[in-house]
Amino acid sequence: MTPARTSAREPGLPVLGADAAGALTDRHARTIRYLRVSVTDRCNYRCAYCMPAEGWAMSPRAEVLRLEEIVALIGHFAALGVERIRLTGGEPLVRRGIVELVGQIAGVPGIREIAMTTNGHLLPSMAADLYAAGLRSLNVSLDSLDPQRFAALTRGGDLARVLAGLDAAARAGFADIKVNAVVVAGQNDHELADLAEFCWTRDIQPRFIELMPIGQLEFARPENVVTTDRMLASVGKRYHLLPSGNECGVNPRGPAKYWRVTEGRHAGRRLGIISPLSDDGFCATCNRGRLTSLGGFRPCLGNDEEVSLRDALRGGRSAVEIEKLIRDAVHGKLAAHNMHDVARAPRDAMTGIGG
Ligand code: SAM
Ligand code: SF4
Repeated sequence: MTPARTSAREPGLPVLGADAAGALTDRHARTIRYLRVSVTDRCNYRCAYCMPAEGWAMSPRAEVLRLEEIVALIGHFAALGVERIRLTGGEPLVRRGIVELVGQIAGVPGIREIAMTTNGHLLPSMAADLYAAGLRSLNVSLDSLDPQRFAALTRGGDLARVLAGLDAAARAGFADIKVNAVVVAGQNDHELADLAEFCWTRDIQPRFIELMPIGQLEFARPENVVTTDRMLASVGKRYHLLPSGNECGVNPRGPAKYWRVTEGRHAGRRLGIISPLSDDGFCATCNRGRLTSLGGFRPCLGNDEEVSLRDALRGGRSAVEIEKLIRDAVHGKLAAHNMHDVARAPRDAMTGIGG
């Protein structure tokens, strides 16, 4: 149950972690209006860049945030100016009650947009219900169009199911669908133009992601990283591309930068690239924080610092106290992530943090 709210701000007094209007703002003048929520650390796939092949222990259920706790915490973030929620994981669609959760978040005052990042495996049967519940934006992970390579990268994933999931999402009415591909040297880096074309012909936005060294995975080592320049060079063999702006900035969105095709059949189509390693300015426009599956609030994906909002909630802390914890954490958000130094990169798994 959410504790009764009274204002955490005294008129005229500056508040750490807040701008003049009370929005969540850090020491580097970045405003946080976007929260990514890991609703489970469980997954029906086991992607090589995300989870170890074996030896991975799921968190005890009692430690995982209950659905009503997720809604209550989102209420606190919304009170602090957060407007956009992305449900992720682990695989959000394996969390029981996920459709109802979407509906409840849609009812939280101040939340204007709910998105989800999913591997797509369960979309064929769930896309219509998710849309009806209020979900409007979907990012589907798709690293390869080759069924065997897809199965190898995801350790058992079913490409046909994911493609059927994309079709089901389009049929359900989703107009904002993106495909995310983590690019891995020697695995799928020769497929980038094919992946982009696949998306453009279906009115889907392709986005390539640099491999990040998260969770101490052997697979996520530097020699497997494909830099943004190399991705552009690869697609550039088939398509002429020009920079087309940033998702961040005046109207903050996500972390991708965009390039536009200038000629040919796909002229005008855009390609997004998420470059946490190649782009020195990546962190300067960061507009987001993360709520982990265990209820930790992480202002940054790129290091393990967090504050437990679950413990605060279960410990009966007031709304004012919980919102102060959030403000303080945002105030302390580091200027930049630690991922250039593998020894200081996040040790916790991406599934729990929420990729
Ligand atoms: N299961 C869902 C999925 O795969 O889309 C959501 C969770 S997954 C952790 C969220 C995103 O993180 C996916 O797009 C995935 O490809 C990406 N991801 C996972 N591990 C990564 C890594 N080491 N580097 C870069 N992106 C990664
Ligand atoms: Fe599961 Fe997504 Fe991680 Fe793959 S990237 S193992 S689908 S959480």
